[in-house]
Amino acid sequence: MNLQKKILFSFLVMILSPCLVITGCTLLALGIGLHGFGTGKGGSVSIITQPMLALTELTKSEYNELSSAVLIYPERFENLKWIGELNNDLEKKFSYLVVEKGGDVIFAGRESAYDEIRTAVLTTIASKGEAFDGAVYLNSKNPVLVKHGEIVFPDKTEGVFLIVTEASVLFTRMNRSFLAGIVMAVICIAAIALCLIMWLNDSIVRPLDSLRIATRKIGEGNLNFRLKRDYNDEIGQLCNDFEEMRVHLKTQIDQREQYEQDVREMISNVSHDLKTPLTAIKGYAEGMLDGVADTKERQEKYLKTIMVKATDMTLLVDELSYYAKLDNNKLPYNFEKVNAVDYFRDCVDEYAMELEMKDFTMNFVSEIDPGTIAVIDCEQIRRVMNNLIGNAVKYRREEIHGEICVKLTDSGDSVRISVIDNGIGISKEAQPHIFERFYRADKSRTSGRAGTGIGLAIVDKIVKEHKGRVFVKSELGKGTTISFTVKKGALSTNG
Ligand code: ADP
Repeated sequence: MNLQKKILFSFLVMILSPCLVITGCTLLALGIGLHGFGTGKGGSVSIITQPMLALTELTKSEYNELSSAVLIYPERFENLKWIGELNNDLEKKFSYLVVEKGGDVIFAGRESAYDEIRTAVLTTIASKGEAFDGAVYLNSKNPVLVKHGEIVFPDKTEGVFLIVTEASVLFTRMNRSFLAGIVMAVICIAAIALCLIMWLNDSIVRPLDSLRIATRKIGEGNLNFRLKRDYNDEIGQLCNDFEEMRVHLKTQIDQREQYEQDVREMISNVSHDLKTPLTAIKGYAEGMLDGVADTKERQEKYLKTIMVKATDMTLLVDELSYYAKLDNNKLPYNFEKVNAVDYFRDCVDEYAMELEMKDFTMNFVSEIDPGTIAVIDCEQIRRVMNNLIGNAVKYRREEIHGEICVKLTDSGDSVRISVIDNGIGISKEAQPHIFERFYRADKSRTSGRAGTGIGLAIVDKIVKEHKGRVFVKSELGKGTTISFTVKKGALSTNG
């Protein structure tokens, strides 16, 4: 339910519930409290609207019986047993029976009570003549409703029977029932109000409160919490958006922290990687200056070592500056359509000779259609191949003959290029991270292999620019396969 509906619903409940509850509770209380009184056709309602009618209804059957007896068995009015039984029935209905004959009371259900009102009753009956349903109301200290009928006894003496109903009982019950109804209604309304307050508190105040706390936490720079979002209304939506914003902010901050950490680590790695060849260069140069390299061969060996170390350093610095440009998107891409088999075979050929000298066997396998066209930036993809083949060489197993295979396979709308080696392999834990910048599986750098940890990050970035993907499959001590895909292009007539 959205917020607008919730407010509308609460508003309706607040307006309608008191009306319904008060009416319902009052009627219920009257129904219970007035059980035993004749309530007529309208039930409890008729007692409220026409209390006299309700009282009249109460003794209707006895009145009818007495009225018929007047006509058929007038002698029964002298039969005290019959009269007594009827009176017992009437007692249960807060009433009693009186029979008078020739001005004398021959039976009175409650004698003393009747004595007090006798004169008033007889006068009222005489003055009102034919009263409603034979009933008159006497508003004395104890108000009563009196129903009467005239009797002609078998000896022709005239008389009267009276059914006296104590109306005060009804009024007292009514008052009590009203009170009970109001109390019940107040309790019910309080319970409804409490539920409504709890519901609104739960769906409006509580989420707003958690939002307030969350805002304060973010203000204090604390993003390590979770905002509950189990509401479907506008506030729930706000909580959702807020939580998304928190997650986004946290990711950004984490990434920045990770980046800073990576940069720190890289500076330390690079300085280490630069220091090693620099120390070597310095040592060999000093050796030459001190005249340690006294023969021509030795001098040549020293100079060659200096050259190799300087080249390593150049490569390192070159890789770093290349990545910086790539990271800032400063390298323009120049996509071309090339024959995939020809292009990658050329790459492999370029290395084959050099690697043979390093005791490596280099193979090229193509499982794709020889006419397959790939859409690539030749220069960037050459760098990808450089990095992958360079790593295959760098992470070789010294104890065995190195083997590198470049394999082309078909992958739907892409060509998949895999560089497979039989080197040291990459642990399962390290595999998901090797394409992250500055990541190096050999953190302790005990292997002595120079590197910045950005070679594969460069690969990843270039491949993504080609709308391709990179994959790694490796087993420690057995070898590694790093693959990437590039998009195929439609064969064009002009090549
Ligand atoms: P580095 O400059 O350290 O070589 P890369 O980004 O090229 O950085 O590689 C990241 C890490 O992945 C390397 O430090 C290495 O541990 C691991 N790695 C990459 N290629 C191979 C491979 N062919 N064989 C074994 N490990 C590799």
